Amino acid sequence: MNYVSTRGGGAARFEDLLLGGTAPDGGLWMPASWPTLDGQPLRDADYPSLVAKVMQPYVGECFDEAELLGMAQRAYAAFPKEDPVPLVQYGDRRWLLELHHGPTMAFKDLAMQLLARMVERALERQSRRVAILAATSGDTGSAAIEAFGGMERVRVFVLFPKGRVSSVQRRQMTAAGYGNVHALAVRGSFDDAQALVKAAFADGALVRSQGLVSVNSINWARILPQVAYYFWACRRLEGAAPVFCVPSGNFGDAFAGCIAGRMGLAMGRVVVATNSNDILHRILSTGVGERRQAEATFSPSMDIQAASNFERALYEACGRDGETVARRMEDFACSGALELAPEERAHLAAAFGSARASESETLETIADTRARCGMLVDPHTAVGVHAAESLDPATPAVVLATAHPAKFPEAVREACGAEQETPARLRRIMEGEERALEIDAELQALKNAVESR
Ligand SMILES: *Cc1c(COP(=O)(O)O)cnc(C)c1O
Repeated sequence: MNYVSTRGGGAARFEDLLLGGTAPDGGLWMPASWPTLDGQPLRDADYPSLVAKVMQPYVGECFDEAELLGMAQRAYAAFPKEDPVPLVQYGDRRWLLELHHGPTMAFKDLAMQLLARMVERALERQSRRVAILAATSGDTGSAAIEAFGGMERVRVFVLFPKGRVSSVQRRQMTAAGYGNVHALAVRGSFDDAQALVKAAFADGALVRSQGLVSVNSINWARILPQVAYYFWACRRLEGAAPVFCVPSGNFGDAFAGCIAGRMGLAMGRVVVATNSNDILHRILSTGVGERRQAEATFSPSMDIQAASNFERALYEACGRDGETVARRMEDFACSGALELAPEERAHLAAAFGSARASESETLETIADTRARCGMLVDPHTAVGVHAAESLDPATPAVVLATAHPAKFPEAVREACGAEQETPARLRRIMEGEERALEIDAELQALKNAVESR
């Protein structure tokens, strides 16, 4: 498989983008074509085999089948054996796909555990060392730390917005206790931290001297493992072609659903569920989105106003015209507004719906889901459950449960008074000593940190 940039410049192989970030023209890598999967051989595959089957056409020049399957088996060994990704019914034609049974209890583990093994293998082959940069709205950082922590050939730098993540999320990054991991508390919002990472990747000299690698969903290899759980859910539902309600921030998870559809999975639309930082909902429902200041919410991992992966969807929607994408993204950077052409809107509407939950609706949904179904959902998942309520009751819908409620004890307590025990997986970090370096949202500050550690 060859890869092309969403902004029209350059081409790459999988191994290059695995150990990189954005394309040299500032765009994101996309496969040159969409392979389709024959559903039949997938029917009896266990989860690691399914992941390997979905990914093989994209990575074939870099990893052979046995190698990829071996890495997938090791990646998912830290998940429940009987079912790493359980599908649980919570209402009439409503299901939760629980993506939070990995080491850090959010869906990011499902991709990061495998990504780390692919990166390690490629580094061994090339005898290289790299520095991983991860901007995090809360969960990417800890997932990266648990996946890459202690790995010999990598240093890990996670940038989180100071004071904007939950206390459990912060401790997962600051108290993990790995010698090769550095937590950077950025004075600013997630968008500032993400812009900083993008600025670092645009600095060619820095990229080369430090060997920078991104593990955010700008990295195609980060999104790819996520495609598999859409197949996994549909297989359980036997031809029901469900709609997927996806709590969204950077649009990576929702875009993974779009990829599954492109690969031939019979499924309904992806409903992009946002919190009050609703730029994606405004773009998809009205065709115009203006960037506003990101607000701090109960679902911090979705407090994003500049969703990187929307660029990939836009690339598809405008018929893979890199020049148009480049112009749009420049306009968005300058004016803070994105406006879709009518045919792009129509193209996007075929694949995506959207919905928004206010803060009070998020809390009400947590309380209501507990009262009606006896199930505790986290605030991000609640935003997805709220989106499912706006659908026709006859439509089967799967809500992606993106995090475990124990990661957000304060919000859950406020919503319904429920007290939760700290799960065994989180106990170590709740006791460890916290270490973080505070930096301004400026490239020089990030450079200093990376070059001196
Ligand atoms: C990262 C995250 C999201 C948003 O996912 P995107 O791929 O960035 O859209 C939603 N919920 C949780 C719990 C997350 O950690």
